This record gives sequence, C-alpha cells and structure tokens, in this order.
Amino acid sequence: MKHCTIFMLLCLPVCSAYPLNGAAKDEDPNMDFAQQYLENYYNLGKDVQQVYRRKDNGAVVKKIQEMQKFLGLEVTGKLDSDTLEVMRKSRCGAPDVGTFSTFPGMPKWRKNHLTYRIVNYTRDLPRDAVDSAVEKALKVWEEVTPLTFSRIHEGEADIMISFAVREHGDFYPFDGPGESLAHAYPPGPGFYGDVHFDDDEKWTEDASGTNLFLVAAHELGHSLGLFHSANPKALMYPLYNSFTDLTRFRLSQDDVDGIQSLYGPPPASPADPELPTQSSPLESGTPAPCDPALSFDAVSTLRGEILFFKDRYLWRKLPWKPKPEFHLISTFWPSLPPHLDAAYEVKSKDTVFIFKGNKFWAVRGNDIQAGYPRSIYTLGFPPTIKKIDAAVSDKEKKKTYFFTGDKYWRFDEKSQSMERGFPRPIADDFPGVDGKVDAVLQTFGFFYFFSGSRQLEFDPNARMVTHIFKSNSWLLCT
Ligand SMILES: [Zn+2]
Ligand SMILES: [Zn+2]
Repeated sequence: MKHCTIFMLLCLPVCSAYPLNGAAKDEDPNMDFAQQYLENYYNLGKDVQQVYRRKDNGAVVKKIQEMQKFLGLEVTGKLDSDTLEVMRKSRCGAPDVGTFSTFPGMPKWRKNHLTYRIVNYTRDLPRDAVDSAVEKALKVWEEVTPLTFSRIHEGEADIMISFAVREHGDFYPFDGPGESLAHAYPPGPGFYGDVHFDDDEKWTEDASGTNLFLVAAHELGHSLGLFHSANPKALMYPLYNSFTDLTRFRLSQDDVDGIQSLYGPPPASPADPELPTQSSPLESGTPAPCDPALSFDAVSTLRGEILFFKDRYLWRKLPWKPKPEFHLISTFWPSLPPHLDAAYEVKSKDTVFIFKGNKFWAVRGNDIQAGYPRSIYTLGFPPTIKKIDAAVSDKEKKKTYFFTGDKYWRFDEKSQSMERGFPRPIADDFPGVDGKVDAVLQTFGFFYFFSGSRQLEFDPNARMVTHIFKSNSWLLCT
C-alpha cells in the first residue's frame, strides 16, 4: 500500500474557473479545487460558497480537519502541501462521509447468493481480462464471507457492472480522466448494488494504468455494504493505491472485520495452516508430511516449483528451498475445491490444469482463467468417465496423459484433441506401473507415479520402473 505515487500525475484537478471577484486574486489558487473536493466527498454545503475564501471560515476549516483526520493526515485545518498532495490522488467517487451512510433501505444483502452481470466493456482491455478482473474481485470477498456469486448474461442482476463516461444516468457524473475512478451503490433493489467505472480512465491488468481488479474489489466492497475506511492499509480506504505485487494482494484485517460484521465468516472457516513437523501428530485432519502412509490427491509442476495437493492443502516445493512450504489451497486459489483429482502443467501455455470430478480449471500463477471450470467432456472424454485419477503433460512430445482406473488416454496438445486408439491399458505402455494411479509428475526426464504411499520412478526411454520410493520422499522425510 506504500506505492501510491504512480497515479498522482494523472489526476491533476481542473482549477481554471477562477472567480472574477477581485479580492480573490490573492487567495490560494487551490481553494476552488478544495471546495469542490469537500463538496463531493465531505458533504460541504453549497451555501458555504459565499464565504469560503475567508480562510478562518469555520465550516471549511472544520471540513478540512475532518478530511485530514479521515485520510490520516496531520490535522491542521489548512490546505498545506501534504494535504493537497493527498487530495490530488485518484480515488473512489463515493464520499467519505454523508451520502452513502444516509441512504435509506438495507445496509446489507438479505441473501448469501448474489448475481452479477457485466453490462458493457471498456475498450482498454480484452473482454476476458475484464471478466477475470471482476471474478477475482468478487472472490476477494467470497473468500472471507458466506457470500457466493454467479454471473448472468441478461436480465437484472443484483450487481450490475458497467463502464460509463461523464453524465451516465445517475446523479454522480464522472469527471474525465483522473480523480474519480468509479463508484458503487450499497445493497438493495434496482440500481442499488451496482458498480460504475469511469471509462475515461485507462484501465489495465497491471499497474501501468488504473488497475481494474483493485478498483473493482474496492467498489464491490460498497456493493456489499461496506463504506470507506480511514485505515490507509484497508482496501476500503478511499484513495486509489497501486501495489507493486498484485498477485500477493490480500484484504487487510480491517476489511475482513468490516465485511464479517455484516455477513459473518465463511461456513467452514479454515484452521490456521501451520507447517506440520515430524513431531506433530495426525490430528484435526491436517496431513503430516512425514506420515509414512501419506498419499497425494494430485501433483503438478508450476513455473519450476512442484505442488503436492492433499485434501484442502498443498505442499509447495521451491527449487531453491529444501524444506517445502505448506498452505491451504485457498490461499492461492480461493475458488478451487478441496480433494482434487489431478493436475498438470502445460509449460508452453504457462498454465496448470486442475481437475475434480467432471470439471477442470485453468490457472496461471494465482489467477483462475475466466470461463472455468469447464466440463471434462470438452476434452473428448466419453460420458462413462466421471473423473480423472491423474494427469501429466509431456512438454517435449506435447502430449498429455490422463489416467483413469487401469487405463490411460492421450491428448494431443498441438491439435487440442484426444488421440485415436485410446484408452489403452496402463500396464501395456508403462510396464511395472500397477495399482491405482493417484498422481503423476514428470521431472528430471522421469515420470513419477504416485500410488498410495508408494512412488514409482519410470524411465520413459527404457520403459521400465527404475526406483521405488515413499510418496513423501519429496517432502524430505526419507
Ligand atoms: Zn469507495
Ligand atoms: Zn454512476
């Protein structure tokens, strides 16, 4: 949250309309801007206009003090340079006090499942980038509440999301590039809950312009009933902040406390995932890496790391770190279910495909790609296949192998189609690989087949099993 300087240049205020009043010439040229700002965001009454140039004017000073207090500045009551600097930052178009908190009607949704609709798109970004920014922004809130969201493509959704410029049919016209970026209405029927983005901003996926995900996550906080927070670390702080590392974005505790005060925590609030050690007994369902009976649900590489999935957890083995990290799967991908079936990386696409039941997801880094989960039948499986046991993609041969029961299927990554002549018996083409395959990993030129607590190292050139290890050997337990 410290890196918020990039956008300051984009949002210089319009100060050209200087008063004709001769006495005002000596006045601070920032006063028009300040007055507008205080009117927009701090409910400064228009009636104050007549007298605001008197610097000792109580109402203005009081408003400046109120604003300084809210924005975490030194409370001087003066338009000093620190205050002006902060006022010129890009921000949410909703006021910091007043309007929204006085809206009549419901402060929160009376249901936990909400619909949303993306009504139109900005030209700044491809459509799927907008879809995915909105999905990700909703997940930020879904992760910490019992709320769930589904998208509809027509009709009236609870949350209607649109891009607009200037006057756009409500009482809050946008202001062109900079300053006000977006606004949203609190929960309720009709336009309540809706989010409007100022399309005069340059919306981007990264921090080179105005990051759509960050602003969407903030505005959706309003749509769910949160108002601005005076905590500068909070997502609900009214000023736009850009992060150096968007992939590591987290809600602040302040945001979590806020939204949970309205909706409560998610149904099965996950326990703190502490790294279990050899001494920690297998309790409360947390898998222990050194349990000799440990098996895996799925194993995949990801950008040079190896991920071992088990129940709601994963171990992450980084190449430069001998000890694997232990995390909740939801830490990286909040919407993925636990107890996954299979996962594999297609390096050429920088994508990991993750399977559970008859669905699969495509993830790139921390992002689940828009349009997922998809049905496994889109890959060419017959309806008799209800799930995949394991999968691995051979990056040299550009083939992906899917293991189901004692058979396997081969998918051609170039033609994106299931190959003819499959399924074939696993034992015919991977001699020595017997038993149910839980997971497969390809690395160092070998295939590693995980079957319960046993792991078979298979040399594809020699077509034979070359070693047998414990499944958890990767977790430095043998
Ligand atoms: Zn806001
Ligand atoms: Zn609007």
